[in-house]
Amino acid sequence: MKARVLAMLLAAAVIAAAGVSAAQLAPISWTCPMHPDVLDDRKGKCSVCGMDLEPVRLVTVWTCPVHGVIFEPEPGKCRICSRQLVTATMALTWTCAGNKQVNQIEPGVCPDGSPMAAKYSPRPHGDHNPKHGGIFFMAPDNWHHIEGTYPAPGRFRVFIYDEFSKPLALSKARQVRARVVTKEGLASTPLLLVRSGTFFEARIDQLPLPAQMTAKISFGPDDKESRFDFAFPSYSKDQPAPSPAPVSTSSGRAQPSPAAPAEGDVAALVSELKTREAEVNSLVKSGAFGSLYVPALQAKDLALEIQAKAANQPALESPVKQIVVSAYLLDSYGDLGDREKIHEASRTFSAAVSALETLVARR
Ligand SMILES: [Zn+2]
Ligand SMILES: [Zn+2]
Ligand SMILES: [Zn+2]
Repeated sequence: MKARVLAMLLAAAVIAAAGVSAAQLAPISWTCPMHPDVLDDRKGKCSVCGMDLEPVRLVTVWTCPVHGVIFEPEPGKCRICSRQLVTATMALTWTCAGNKQVNQIEPGVCPDGSPMAAKYSPRPHGDHNPKHGGIFFMAPDNWHHIEGTYPAPGRFRVFIYDEFSKPLALSKARQVRARVVTKEGLASTPLLLVRSGTFFEARIDQLPLPAQMTAKISFGPDDKESRFDFAFPSYSKDQPAPSPAPVSTSSGRAQPSPAAPAEGDVAALVSELKTREAEVNSLVKSGAFGSLYVPALQAKDLALEIQAKAANQPALESPVKQIVVSAYLLDSYGDLGDREKIHEASRTFSAAVSALETLVARR
């Protein structure tokens, strides 16, 4: 399961990087119709169920957290409500305005002679953005998603979503068992489904900020409990007012800013890498796990660039590899909100950054 998540993240990262040059078409990936998290760069069979993989063209688009009809190639504001756009992974196909049945992976010309139009379809796990100003995690079952919010002192809410990050159907929500623990060893408080079925809520102690709590959730009768560690730096605001600040590292999934400086010598890249490492450590400390992927993936790019610039130094290979792997683990465990695994990955990450720094200084 873990390998599958990692493979998915690797593929998504590569695609996100490729999507920057919007003029080119994103490459075709291969996926299982039953297991959307199985992705490969070539035709073959699903590693889980053996079905034939199908082609899909995955692209990163900017969309409104509220208005799913908005697709933009670049960051900006929603044309309808002027909220800040967020990234989502979608499948790109081609269709004809006059015949929506047309849905093909290569662009072409419609029967009436007009060029086919791009069509974006949401993908399972293509959207990991919080919907209520909270902290968003993917469940270890690789299917459910949850969002925790701390809207007011002593009040904790959990929203549960399906693989498309849409609210869970009421019949499914009724099968969820959830509780919250504010301190390990203390009794848990049940999270109860509110009458409208839109979220679960518990009254807990009034915790000082940053408020730390752990939700323990089982998604069905035979499901074992999964844990999600939260640390709320401030009270959650539902549907936050549009803000002019493009990047915020404290609220949910922020947008990665362009990572590495295009040029600059190795020493400058190493100092940039140290800055990212410090960001990772401060996010780990504050419990803002959902934002870890931003500095972690930037650090990964920097490490690879350092390796490329210092071409004939085989000694760099091992720390660079460790940085890359632990960066992906930080991204993946950050999504899952697994505090213990995150701490472990961040220790490996920091040790590898230090090792790289020492090797470069020795040159
Ligand atoms: Zn499959
Ligand atoms: Zn909007
Ligand atoms: Zn997901």
